[in-house]
Formats: sequence, C-alpha cells, structure tokens
Amino acid sequence: MFGQELVLRQRTEILNALCSSGSAEHLEQVLDILLSQGELTWEDYQNIQVSGRALHCNARKLLDLVYIKGEDTCGLFFAAFKRVLPDAKGVGTSSSGCSSTLEEKEEHQSTCTETLLTQRPSLVEKLRGCIDGALEDLVTSGHFTSADCCEVQLPIHTPCQQARRLLDHVRSKGESAAKVVLQFIQHKQEPVSPLSHEKLTPPKEVLKYQKKLSSSISAQSCFLSTYGGTSHMSLDDIYTDGQLELAHNCVDVNGPLGLEDIVGAVGTVNKEADTVLVSGEAGGGKSTLLQRLHLLWARGAALQDFLLLFPFSCRRLNSEQRELSLRELLFQHCCWPDRQQEEIFQFILDHPHLILFTFDGLDELKQSFSDEHRLCCPTQRAPVHILLFNLIQGSLMKGVRKVVTSRPEAVGPLFKKHLCKEVLLKGFSPSGIDCFVRKHHSDAHVAAKVLESLRTNTALLGLCHSPVLCWIVSQCHKELLGCGEGSLTTITDVYLMILQHFFQHQSSQKNTTGLCWLQQHLQTVLHLGKLAFDGIGATCYIFSGTDLETCGVTEKDICMGFLMRSKDMSTHTEGYEFLHLTMQCFFAALYIVLSDNTDRSTIPKLFETQKMKEAGQSSRCFIACLPSTDQPQRPSGGETAAAETPNRQITATFVSGLLSQRHRNLWLHCCPSAVMEKRVRQVVKCLSKGMQKHFKSIPQPVEGEKKSMHAMPGFVWLIKCLYEMQEDRVAIDAMSKLEVDHLKLTYCNIGPVECTALAYVLQHLRNPVGLQLDNNSVGDVGVEQLLPCMHICNSLYLRNNNITDEGIRKLLAKTIQCENFKKIALFNNNLTDACTQHFSRLLKIKQNFVSLRLGNNNLTEKGAKQLAEGLKCNHSLQYLGLWGNKIGDAGAEALATALENSKTLVWLSLVDNGVGSAGACALSNIIKNCTSLEELWLTENHITRSGVESLIQAMQHNTHVKSVWLRNNDLSLEEVEEMKQRESRLIL
Ligand code: ADP
Repeated sequence: MFGQELVLRQRTEILNALCSSGSAEHLEQVLDILLSQGELTWEDYQNIQVSGRALHCNARKLLDLVYIKGEDTCGLFFAAFKRVLPDAKGVGTSSSGCSSTLEEKEEHQSTCTETLLTQRPSLVEKLRGCIDGALEDLVTSGHFTSADCCEVQLPIHTPCQQARRLLDHVRSKGESAAKVVLQFIQHKQEPVSPLSHEKLTPPKEVLKYQKKLSSSISAQSCFLSTYGGTSHMSLDDIYTDGQLELAHNCVDVNGPLGLEDIVGAVGTVNKEADTVLVSGEAGGGKSTLLQRLHLLWARGAALQDFLLLFPFSCRRLNSEQRELSLRELLFQHCCWPDRQQEEIFQFILDHPHLILFTFDGLDELKQSFSDEHRLCCPTQRAPVHILLFNLIQGSLMKGVRKVVTSRPEAVGPLFKKHLCKEVLLKGFSPSGIDCFVRKHHSDAHVAAKVLESLRTNTALLGLCHSPVLCWIVSQCHKELLGCGEGSLTTITDVYLMILQHFFQHQSSQKNTTGLCWLQQHLQTVLHLGKLAFDGIGATCYIFSGTDLETCGVTEKDICMGFLMRSKDMSTHTEGYEFLHLTMQCFFAALYIVLSDNTDRSTIPKLFETQKMKEAGQSSRCFIACLPSTDQPQRPSGGETAAAETPNRQITATFVSGLLSQRHRNLWLHCCPSAVMEKRVRQVVKCLSKGMQKHFKSIPQPVEGEKKSMHAMPGFVWLIKCLYEMQEDRVAIDAMSKLEVDHLKLTYCNIGPVECTALAYVLQHLRNPVGLQLDNNSVGDVGVEQLLPCMHICNSLYLRNNNITDEGIRKLLAKTIQCENFKKIALFNNNLTDACTQHFSRLLKIKQNFVSLRLGNNNLTEKGAKQLAEGLKCNHSLQYLGLWGNKIGDAGAEALATALENSKTLVWLSLVDNGVGSAGACALSNIIKNCTSLEELWLTENHITRSGVESLIQAMQHNTHVKSVWLRNNDLSLEEVEEMKQRESRLIL
C-alpha cells in the first residue's frame, strides 16, 4: 500500500498515536522533522500549528496537508512518524510501500538561519535544558528584548516548546541572531552532573529523619491488610510478582518489567514529566505493589537512589479537611521530624531528585484531576487535592519522582499529559497463581489440592488472574474443595463464597435456628450493605463511628471480618474500611438486591451507560437513588470523583450476578419473591437496552466493506454483567439484534476473565463474525476461555496477546472442527516451531482455510518445513504471512516447494526472514507456476543479484503478479536502478 493511501486508511490510528497522550510533543516532533527536511514550508507549519486550537485539529491539518502534497511527502511523513513513535501500533508497516528514509542534512549549511531549520530536531533537544542561557546571550547581543524572552518562556510551554518558540523568534530576527544561538550551543558546557546520591552526604538531621521515616514505613507495610482479620500474613511470605507491562510498546524493553523499572527510566515517553502511573483493575494488586516498593525501600533493598520516600493514600487524604502547605502535608501525613523541621524541609526542596512520592488510588480521591488551580509555592496552604494535582503536574516540586496508582477508567487525557510513562499491572500470570497458592498454604498437600481443583475449572482459574480473587479462593479453600466441579464460575459466586466463609468462621453462634446462613445473618448484610452503598455514593471508603452508627452497624457486625480498622493519618482517629474496595461494591450490591429501602430507579440508574465525560452525572444518579435524608454531602464545587463510574459498574456486575436464577434460592426467605422478580426484570431490561444502544451506534458499512463494530467503553462491562447472570435466554435476547460481520475489541483490556464472558455471550450470535482482539492480554488461559464461541467465529485476530504454543495447541484442536473458521492472525506472540505441527494439521484438514498470519514470532527453518507439510495438502489458503521470523533459505525453499502449484495463494510475505538468493531462486518457482499469486514480499532479506535475476526471469512468464517487494536486500544502487528498468513490478 502506498503512502498516500496509508495516510487515508490509517488516519484514525495516526491521530490516536499522535494525540492520545494529550501532549502536543509527538506532533511537534514530527513537524520539526518535516520542517528540517524541507517537506513543510514555514507557511505550512504556521497553518498547522495554530496555538489555542485543539491538538487533534492541528494533527488533522497536518494529515490533510501531507496527503495533498503527494506520495513523497506521505512517505517522509511516515518515516518521521516512525522516528518519533517507533512502536506506534497499527500505523504504517514495514511492509508498506512508504519506507522513505529521512536524509541527514549536512551540518554546515550556507547560512545560520538555514542551519536552524535543517537541524531543528536536534537543536530543540539541545536547547531544552538551557533556554535561560540562550536567552541571556540573545539579550546581551541585543537581538532579544525582555518581551521576547517572556514570550518564549510562557509557563504554559514545556521546555521543548520553549526551545521551539526560541528558534521561531530567532528566525524572525535574522542571520546574526541565528549565529548567536548556534555559537551558544557550540560553547555550551556539558551540564553539571546532578548531585549524585553517593557523593552527597546529607546533613545528620536529614539522615535521622530518613531513619525515622523508613522505620515507620517498614512497620506500616510489613503485613498485608486483607489478612488482618484472619491471620497475620507478612508481605514477604505472600508477595507474588504481578505482570507489569508498559502501556506504550518500547523497543528497548525485552522481557517482563521488574519492580524497580516502574521508577526507572525504561519506557519513558515524556521526558519532561516526573510522574509514573501504575494502572490496573480493582483488586489487581496496585496497593500491594506499592506496599512492596515501600517495604523494600525502607529496608534498603530497592530504590536506593531516593533518600526519602513519602507514601500517600488518596483514600486517607480524602478525610483531610484542612488546607495544608506542602511541608505540613509531608510531615503530618507521613512522618514528623523530631527536630530541625526547617532544615529538613529545605533539604527536600533543594534535592528533588532524591525524593520519591507515591500516591495510592488516585481514583479514590473525591475530586477528579484538574489543572485549573496552579500552585508553585511550597509554603502556601491549599486544599490537599490541589497540592496533589500540582505535585503531579510538576508545578510544585518539579523533579520529584511520583508514582501514582489508579484504575484505568478513572484517569483522563488531562492527567495523562503529565505522565512520563504508564505501566500496566495485569494481575498474576499462570505461574503467579501457582506461586501465590503455594505461598498461601503452608500445607503443600492443601495447596496441591486447591491448584488441582482450579485446573479442572478453567473459568475459575481465569478469575484467579486477579490477585484479590486468588486471595479469596485460597482463603476459602475448604468451601472450594467441598463444592461440586464447575459450580463456581462467576465473580459473584466467588464473593458469595467468601461471604458464607466469613459468616461461618467468624460467628461463634451455632446455627440451631434452621435458617439458611444468609437468613441468619441478614441484618449484618443489610447494615454493612447500607454502609457500603452510602459510601460509594459519597466516594467514602473510610467510615467513622458515626457512619457505622447511622447504618446500624453493630460490634457483632464488625466482628464478622469484612471491615478492618484503619488509621486516619491526619486526625489519628480510628476508622473502618472494607477489606477491599470490591468487597464494598459487593455489599452495596447486596443492599440493592435485598433492601426494601432503595428507590425504584436505583437499578436503572446503576446500569446507565454513560461516557466517561458524563461520569459525574451518572454518579449523581447513584446518590439520587438514596432516600433524600440519606444523601451524603457532595464534594464542593461540583467536582466529582473519577472512581464513580468504575465503582458503579462493579456494583452493577454484582447485582446482575446476585439476581441470577442460580442464586434465587438464597434470597427465598430474605426478600419477597415478587420484589425479587421485579428487580430481575429491571436488570434484564437494562442489559438489553444497554446492548441496543451499542448496536445502534454502529455505522452503516461503506459499500464493499464489512459491517464492523468497534467496542465502545461499557460494552465489555455489559458483556460481563450478562455473564454474571448466567441466563442463556437473557444473553440470547440481548445479542439477538447484533448484526455485524466484524467485532473489534482492540486495546480493551481483555484478559482471561473478559474472554470467558465474551465467549459466553458471543456463542449466541446467529451469524458468524470476525473477532478482533489485538493488543489485549488474552494469553493462553484467555484463548482457552474463548473456545466455546469459536464455532461462530470466521476470523480471529490475536496480535500481541502473549500467546504461546500451548494456547495454539488448544485453540487449533477446537477450530479444526469449526466449519466457519477461516482466518487467524497471530502477529507478535510467543510462538515457536512447536506450534507449526498444529497449523500443518489444520491446513491439511481444513480445505476452506484462507489466511494464516504468524509474523513476528520465533519460527525457524524447522517450523517452515512443518508448515510446508500442511501447505502441500491444502487447496484454499490465500494469504500467508511470516514476516519477522527466521526461516532462512531452507525454510523458504520448503515453502516454495509446497506452494509452487497452489491455485489459491494470492499473497505471501517472508519479509525479514534471513532469506538469501537460494531462497529467492526457489520462490521464483511459485511465480512461474502459481497463477493466483499477486504479491510477494521479500523486503529486508539478504537476496543478491542472482536471486533477483531468477525472480525477474520467472516474472516474464507471469502476468498475474502485481508486485514483488525487494527493498533492503543486498543490492548495490546501480543494481537497483538496473533491475527497476528491467522489471517495473519489482519494488526496490
Ligand atoms: P488494588 O489496589 O489493585 O485494588 P490490592 O493491592 O488491594 O489491589 O489487592 C487486593 C488483594 O489481593 C490484596 O489485599 C492481597 O490479598 C492480594 N494481592 C494483591 N497483589 C498481591 C501480590 N502481588 N502478592 C500477593 N497478594 C496480592
């Protein structure tokens, strides 16, 4: 595909990649390169870069312009794009026809003004750390006035933007000003290396303070809170590594990230920012991960570049009503210095690079992130959330490293603009689950039994990727082993199990009443339920004695173990919080299902599908569900917490699960059945309406294209609710109106849990669909969960999903029997030659299979030979993609022999596979004999003249082939020119 066409086709992906971070930096870097290459004129640049206009609009202008300018400019645009965003997903491909290369322009141009333009990208880089110095020289030399300086240094500009503004100004001042800048850069001394920790000897008082701070952090973090009520479990004994990934792919990162990489430079996308976001679902282990980092730091076992670490919990900061200065925040909320507060605080201010702040649970803060109130003065008092937002932005204490955790839905682009990187915490890996269960049970025999039972229940195993569910399952091992195979399948099942577990273990009371366990504890459920429900409406997670009293929570209720004591750091008073946020949502759901005090509109409002932007409103609905006397106070100024939509969604998922037919016996004597039936009908209606809303938003297909639906936020959540209900009829009804050919769920955070729900719902579709799950965390366990819907799937896209040979073995064993299944794309997974035998078998058996794409895996000659075995017997395959493997000449020869007489092959890619001329000669036979072939991709191999000669000869007998791609092989420039003349279909 050519550059111009790609600019059109990939417009959305390009805009996304350039703008999704919210920062203009990527776009501006691309513009710098295009300017320096002479592809954009100064006028073009000013037309695109209109300040005050939305970033997306500027980016669109650029795309329009490069498109109009034609093929070459588009090619250079992609080259610039790739340089700025080498790992952008889904934009350009190395196999695209637009692999223009950027010329390095000569350093010495005829004029200094020209040099400023041609060297713009590197000058921006060089100037950004020393704008002041350059301005000083320009003022001294009389080229700049102080008004010019102010304009350059407007605080809204990042240092890179300031550097650009400076260059733009200098340009208008003429040649001699340009010369001053270039001389300044030349003479600029190497920056003084930052005070290195080892060389610095901090004052004695600071060291004393560090000791006090670390011993307090160590004491706070050595036990895991969820184990508090039952048994003390030290973090060392139970901590299991979760899976960490960078949100943006990064070429330098091989293998999994370690804990210290979170804070380190690896994967940095915005060098200007100092804040790292660790995002993950509720119960995914974010707090525990921070706790681990704190403990390791306090013991001197990690993060030793930081002299002081200040841990904050946003949940606790919520209860700080006073306005505080930064100093008060640090000392009162973390650790009070016994002496010389002034000196210690000054040391902190003077050495920001030695300080680390962590903020756990930004999504739990009452106020959503905003950058409206700027605060730069460390002694000025302000509401705590304002201090926090200014720290994150860097207006306060620039240079201090910050780690913030949050659920992904709760942070918007405004916040992301201030991030140096985002790390995703994706729960436990399969071996992590194993490890956790073994750590949890000191009796190896019990651990083995629990693991065995998990292996027989793959839905439950899928759930255990979430650490909080893994904890519950391990905690309730007796119930788990006692219940029938496969009876625990939903998240609600697991939470009901722990509910029963706690009631039966914590309560000393013997059940002599003949009542079922729930009936016996109904009052406790309702008291805690009300506390949870009110709390969620008010973004309250820590409850005072008065809160408890208001909801009727008694000492006996507390003893059941769902609440744990929590210290309010600001007032040093005791409060209570639920063992985990998800537990609070579960109790809120129980309240909605069982209480006779909730409003009729509670359920419809709970299920409203709003966009994130409107999240505030939707949460007000949650509050509106409360009787008016109970309505909690809202945070002032109309601000709303980002957590409200996710909390509402978790609660709604539990409500769906609790109202499932499977659990109705449990409620039999707890709530009148007519009320129950009504609530069920309400939920069913909401789910069906929610789905319809998604389906209605699907645009009509452009002629010739398939009708395709890209999942909107909320779609996966509705699917999960349907799964929790476990009522086929409801799922069938809800899906009955979905009429699409292609369902796109890329970058949707789909893990094994979501795969289970998706398969459950999609299996009810009437017509086959293409299922696109690229760039998620499906993994082998997720693949296994998808099997039940494979019969309805005609193509499956699983690019970049951590799938191994084992996942493929199971997948193909199933799909081989599925008549509809015709295409698979597995680009960038962990596949080796051990999986090719399964593909070979599939190819032999399925004579309607059309497309196999296995690019960027670890296949070698051996794998290619195995594939060839299958290809020999196949009469349907049209597309075979093996880009970025290592099949070499021998592999290419084997494939050539298998495919030379194919009557169906249309497209073959062996780009970047170490293929030489021997391979090319063999492949010539396909060109000679196969009449269906249209494109052969051999870019980035080692083919020499003799190989190309053979291809040319073969092409003389074949008029069907449209192009043979041979860029970046072992040919001289002269050879390239000559070959081009001889055969115009060769792309060299
Ligand atoms: P989040 O902050 O993402 O909601 P938490 O860190 O509170 O999740 O985890 C919930 C529970 O899951 C913890 O209390 C603990 O029992 C368990 N857990 C989470 N992460 C780990 C881990 N890395 N090792 C062991 N247990 C964990």
